[in-house]
Amino acid sequence: MVRRLWSDRQYLRLAVELSGGYRNDERRCPFGAVVVAHGSVISRGVNQVVELNDPTAHAEIMALRAAATELQAYAIDSSAQCHPGESGQQC
Ligand SMILES: [Zn+2]
Repeated sequence: MVRRLWSDRQYLRLAVELSGGYRNDERRCPFGAVVVAHGSVISRGVNQVVELNDPTAHAEIMALRAAATELQAYAIDSSAQCHPGESGQQC
């Protein structure tokens, strides 16, 4: 059995911290996400829709893309994400 290093609350707190750097920019939505697998943070993501001109560059998508690259896998078994705001339809 895999030993959990952090609680879900701690992972969510990390996602909230990631989103915090975007609060002072009114064009950006303050979203952050982390992907957790087997008790470890595999990747992190922040909303980059504006700077990339990419409507799919949501925080959770950026984090999943980074996790897939890190794990060299197209499917991720376990993840946690946090949107400290109101999510859109894509989320
Ligand atoms: Zn989203």
